[in-house]
Amino acid sequence: MTRPIRASIDLSALCHNHAVVRRHAGSSHIWSVVKANAYGHGVGRVARALASETDGFALVELDAAVALRKSGITQPILMLEGFYDADELSLFVEFGLTAVVHCVEQVMMLVEASLPVRLPVYLKLDTGMHRLGLSTTELQDTLKALRKSSTVSDITLMTHFADADEPRGIADQMQALSTMTDGLDLPLCLANSAALLRFPDTRQAWVRPGIMLYGASPFPQMKSAADLGLRPVMTLQSELIAVRDLAVGDRIGYGGAFVAHQPMRIGVVACGYGDGYPRHAPTGTSILVAGKRTRTVGRVSMDKIFVDLSTIPEAAIGTVVTLWGEGLSADDVATAAGTVSYELFCALANRVPVTEV
Ligand SMILES: *Cc1c(COP(=O)(O)O)cnc(C)c1O
Repeated sequence: MTRPIRASIDLSALCHNHAVVRRHAGSSHIWSVVKANAYGHGVGRVARALASETDGFALVELDAAVALRKSGITQPILMLEGFYDADELSLFVEFGLTAVVHCVEQVMMLVEASLPVRLPVYLKLDTGMHRLGLSTTELQDTLKALRKSSTVSDITLMTHFADADEPRGIADQMQALSTMTDGLDLPLCLANSAALLRFPDTRQAWVRPGIMLYGASPFPQMKSAADLGLRPVMTLQSELIAVRDLAVGDRIGYGGAFVAHQPMRIGVVACGYGDGYPRHAPTGTSILVAGKRTRTVGRVSMDKIFVDLSTIPEAAIGTVVTLWGEGLSADDVATAAGTVSYELFCALANRVPVTEV
């Protein structure tokens, strides 16, 4: 027997979610965002599953981009942080990658390079997030330099929203963008999942959805993934490996973080933070045992968590436990743990075997 934890990746759900993206995107082209190993779902399998559906793939890791090309992906590939060093530009040429250019240093590397072909460029503008992107004062000179450079072909303008999922929204950044791009006739790429779903104006030449492809909500406090018509792609399951009865006053787990105030039955699940389950998930976090919703109790340890079996008398060693996915949104677990589904997916540990369904 192997340890019972496993993740399954539902590729038909992924394609369904892509169709939801397509419906919202209208005539915009879609960069499917597959950074961080496709948010933990496996960049190779996600790209393969979406290859006949999507218009391009966006990520940050050069090795993963090269691997996608070698595996036969022919769509455009967008490198969201561009290149980190002028030496990498030859790989952008060899593998046909599109670079985001977000700072003057990258502009200089690009225009000073000698390349056998011209590269398409996504020029990233800082419209208020103050993370990556050129300022208003840098934009005009940069455009001049790129336009007369022999290493640059098509230029697309992009920006990223800081509050597309927040009450604040995008109005200030859209205003800044319109000021910065006044008089420029270049294609735009603006929307992440939250903007695509909430602000149809952000659908421009291209959109950049990530999280919604994986079936989680970009704004779980406003709308659940199910409300958005999305299906979970990753389901993380394990089994009970012990069941025990507690007497009043019994403490469980590290620090005795949970104490039984009445006689109760608990189960021990073979899953912990070493598998990617969030250590900060408190007592009361939702979990499914034999398909029924119950709660975790006590502190999450590296390999194990505890579940309350009071309402599930049939539970025994070997009973299936769902940590998140089909039947229990990762958003619920993430919210309980004070984080976001993105982090749960990305944290899926290497030791968890993955199957495709
Ligand atoms: C990660 C990322 C996205 C996708 O964001 P989601 O919230 O997952 O839709 C889009 N654009 C950029 C620049 C990103 O880094």
